[in-house]
Amino acid sequence: MLEKAQQGTWPSCAPIGYLNISTGDKRGIGLDPERAGVVRRMFEWYAADNCSVDEVRARATAEGLTTKHGTPPSKSTIERILKNPFYTGTFVWKGKTYKGDHLPLISFDLFHRVQAALRKGNHPVRESKRSFAYTGLIKCAHCGCSITAGTHKGKYIYYRCTGACGRCNTRLIREDRLEALLGELVQRIHIDDETIEWVVAALKESHRDEKAYHDEQITRLQAEIKKLQDRTDIAYEDKLDGKISEEYWERKSRQWRSRQFELRRSVEQHEKASQVYFEEGTTLLKLAQRAYDLWLAQSQIEKRRLLDVLLLNCTFDGEKLVATYKRPFCWLAEGSLGLVWRG
Ligand SMILES: [Zn+2]
Repeated sequence: MLEKAQQGTWPSCAPIGYLNISTGDKRGIGLDPERAGVVRRMFEWYAADNCSVDEVRARATAEGLTTKHGTPPSKSTIERILKNPFYTGTFVWKGKTYKGDHLPLISFDLFHRVQAALRKGNHPVRESKRSFAYTGLIKCAHCGCSITAGTHKGKYIYYRCTGACGRCNTRLIREDRLEALLGELVQRIHIDDETIEWVVAALKESHRDEKAYHDEQITRLQAEIKKLQDRTDIAYEDKLDGKISEEYWERKSRQWRSRQFELRRSVEQHEKASQVYFEEGTTLLKLAQRAYDLWLAQSQIEKRRLLDVLLLNCTFDGEKLVATYKRPFCWLAEGSLGLVWRG
């Protein structure tokens, strides 16, 4: 078993989401096509949707997740899954961590976010108290207090000013109506075709400048690396000829080597920076283009997350929502872009 572990194969019963498989006389771990998807989503629910363990269990059961005995998973089974690093493609055997040869279901990053959420003892508040999607996002335009939410006859959800600063007459608004107004804010983030051409051209040009700068730096660094190499070569010959002492050679050549190492690292950083600049630009452009489509397709939790990304602040006067966008979306919101570009 230890030998198997050292070779990267989990030497025991596969956890939920995986199967013990054998091809010929070789035994290994493969994905369980029926369960792998649900198990991956469980991590996402817990980390991204702020679900409690009970909610994760309810959702997973609703999606048909069963244990190997065919029964619905218990709460402790769910917890065991969420704490198991096996799903990142590693495993622990007799106190040692091994890199497994099985396919990872989730990233290390997601796993660590789940562990952090587990440590916080996870969201017990949500169960006793109903939470609303858009509270804490909007302020009253009249008195500056927060807009909070409640239910009417246990049926409709509405939003209103808390009136914490005294009586306030801002009218209340039903959630579906508010959501439509928020959708309009998202819709304003869009780029027409003509502007897209501008942005792409500008991005290319600016990337050229950016790239030229990094290329220049790389050339300079490489010249310095070569100079140090030449110096080292000459000093080596001098040492052979007895012109410089062994001690002097050791000291100097070590110094030059470590400087060369630093320079090479800078070269790498410049190479990477040039790449990142362009990728971030194009990713942002794509996101902005799809913002409203994303909005329409998402759950309320995701809608709220999108608003948190886009909006700096937002006020409601009983009729209209007025928002300030965060950078760089403020430049992409309708009406403001032409101005920036003319400038
Ligand atoms: Zn108010």
